[in-house]
Amino acid sequence: MSVGGDGNEVAVCASCGQILPLGLQAKICPACLLGQGALFSSSESRVRPGDFVPPAPQDLELIFPEFSFSRLLGRGGMGAVYQAHQRELEREVAIKILPPETARDLEFQERFRREAATLAQLDHPNIVGLFDYGEREGYFYFVMEYVAGADLAVRMADAEISTKDVFAIVSQICEALDYSHARGVVHRDIKPANILIDDNGLVKIVDFGLAKVVRGDVVDPGLTRTQSSMGTPQYMAPEQMAGSEKVDHRSDIFAIGVVLYELLTGKVPAGHFKAPSVEKETLNPRLDEVVLRALRSEPDQRYQKVSDIKSGLEEAIEQPVSSANAIHVGWK
Ligand code: ADP
Ligand code: MG
Repeated sequence: MSVGGDGNEVAVCASCGQILPLGLQAKICPACLLGQGALFSSSESRVRPGDFVPPAPQDLELIFPEFSFSRLLGRGGMGAVYQAHQRELEREVAIKILPPETARDLEFQERFRREAATLAQLDHPNIVGLFDYGEREGYFYFVMEYVAGADLAVRMADAEISTKDVFAIVSQICEALDYSHARGVVHRDIKPANILIDDNGLVKIVDFGLAKVVRGDVVDPGLTRTQSSMGTPQYMAPEQMAGSEKVDHRSDIFAIGVVLYELLTGKVPAGHFKAPSVEKETLNPRLDEVVLRALRSEPDQRYQKVSDIKSGLEEAIEQPVSSANAIHVGWK
């Protein structure tokens, strides 16, 4: 213990002598703990280059004492997402962190900041909302709304999704991307793991880490080193696979085509794939044209606007596909 400027007793780090954050149980500060590797779960090995071990949820409370961390929701090659409770505001949130060992790579750090900045520009019911962004003890982080449910990859693995629900889901993906494309934001990593569905069937798109922003005629070239090594080949349009400069919103249209094919048939299209109604005979053959048009190799031959996928589906099944249907999805 030591005496602070206001005469009250304050706790100081036993290692470096810095004043400890209020409410911290440990006797040394987070920076010294990090130096000792104590923040990493004891059951997991230390960090290897290009990989990282996500901190155990409770260890993060040393750095973010205003949250109580409950679980790791997901992790990628560079960061991790946790569910947490924000004590003062009494709400659940999702917190994405970029740990210090990854943040030392300035390109990852900048990519992470851009992801948060992109989310901050977007305000749409089908895109996850951003609450806050910052850096603490070497950890870059952003706080998002928590989506209680599961991502589409998990949903698909759990159970077959009815065709009616496929339309409700795809219609919401189209609405989200129609909105973001109108603001010059191309997502570039549309795939089931980045599409969350809450327990009422409401879709929320996450993970704008690879997004490219076009303002007027000015294209933000992005961060090519990380981009070339990331993305998900199965869902990537040919021009994106080729690393072309010409990647635009039509690459997202291709990715929606892959997700739609997978949702309808249970298979990811690759190489010379069959039309959806040949792959799964119970499907309406009129859907084939919609899916195959989204999946054309040449961007000029695809749908040119996301909203056209939705209208294509409506024409094929001769009824509206609205996000309102999602209310009836009844995932539980
Ligand atoms: P990465 O860049 O590592 O892929 P994501 O942003 O895609 O990170 O998040 C990883 C996983 O965490 C997602 O696939 C999803 O399952 C979960 N997740 C991400 N954001 C949220 C959120 N706001 N609410 C609930 N789960 C989330
Ligand atoms: Mg992701």
